Amino acid sequence: MLAMFRLISISCLPRAQLHRFICMLATAAAMATSAWGQTEFQQCLSGLRNPAKAAGVKEDSFARFTHGLTADMGILDKMNNQPEFRMPIWDYLAALVDNERVAEGQAQLAKHHDLLDKVAAQYGVDPATVVAVWGVESNFGQTLGKYQLTQALGTLSCFGSRQNYFRGEFYATLRILQAGHIEPERLVGSWAGAFGHTQFMPTTFERLAQDFDGDGRRDLMDSVPDALASTAYFLSKAGWNSAQVWGFEVKLPVGTDVSGEGRKTKRPLNEWAARGLTQVDGSALPLNGGPAGLMITAGLMTPAGAKGPAFLVSRNFDAIYSYNAAESYGLAIAHLSDRLRGAGPFSTPWPTDDAGLSRAERREVQNLLSGRGHDIGEIDGVLGDKSRIAIKAEQSRLSHEVNGRAGQKLLRALR
Ligand code: CA
Repeated sequence: MLAMFRLISISCLPRAQLHRFICMLATAAAMATSAWGQTEFQQCLSGLRNPAKAAGVKEDSFARFTHGLTADMGILDKMNNQPEFRMPIWDYLAALVDNERVAEGQAQLAKHHDLLDKVAAQYGVDPATVVAVWGVESNFGQTLGKYQLTQALGTLSCFGSRQNYFRGEFYATLRILQAGHIEPERLVGSWAGAFGHTQFMPTTFERLAQDFDGDGRRDLMDSVPDALASTAYFLSKAGWNSAQVWGFEVKLPVGTDVSGEGRKTKRPLNEWAARGLTQVDGSALPLNGGPAGLMITAGLMTPAGAKGPAFLVSRNFDAIYSYNAAESYGLAIAHLSDRLRGAGPFSTPWPTDDAGLSRAERREVQNLLSGRGHDIGEIDGVLGDKSRIAIKAEQSRLSHEVNGRAGQKLLRALR
């Protein structure tokens, strides 16, 4: 999904560095909105020709795939605007794992039943997990991104403070086109270069993409078999173990000290049991198989602190985490996979009196705002800049805290 790279890029940057990064981008964006920026871009591209050749991009390929390429300075603004909103995890999950996505995911599981069985047999990753990644990354192929990859990565190779990183991705993009896996005009993705049904970065594609339909091309844009097999292969390389679950929700005894615990601090299940942890329904932890399979050690994850939902997570959760380094992301995939298998929402409520909104509820908020005369653009369930401005205006009118966030409270008030 489009948000994917945001999580990677921001979570990987130390705070101080992030600030410098934003400042440099702002400067680059300001300079580059002029025609001067395009001249700079052409000079920069010429300078990339030789390094690209050294990286395996033939001269005629480089000429062909960069012919007429211009910089898209809006991408620098995108990057610049990324860290503005720190979304609570309950908002993040409410939109990614809602009833709509569960229903659509179950329909996809049925539709691709045979394919997913073959993928599971070859790579050892179960259908619900693969489909959950697909659903979170591209809404089952419905949101593939709109940025021409050569333009986006070319721009980021020449402006901004991560040019070296993006040049590697740019050369990989050119090699993918050179090899004929995907037609140039089909290769679109997120502004940061993730593309296809499962939003691989170009270098990830080169390492891990699979040709599962056997047509000789690895096509993550237009082949569902290639895309789903590639996801399964990614997870298997990341250490997925089909004999165990990702984890499960648990109940903590009152007063449990969760400081120092986390995804990476794995302890034997019997140690957790000795500390009084149970399954969320109060039954004993499954120390001898059962729903946890062969899960022997697990880390205790409390994404909203000890008062919110708590989870014991296995190495499989780490495999999902490696797809996109954010625990909230991992939890969205893991939870969606459980919901696709028929499980319900988490038992423990999030520690908030203003829970998040599903996409249907976000569309309802947009309709209500629009009905009150606000210009909120397309009713798409995505609360962007226009929606946020309208939300702030209504929060001010209603004497709510003015923060631009829409939750159940605002929805109820608008209704
Ligand atoms: Ca193929």
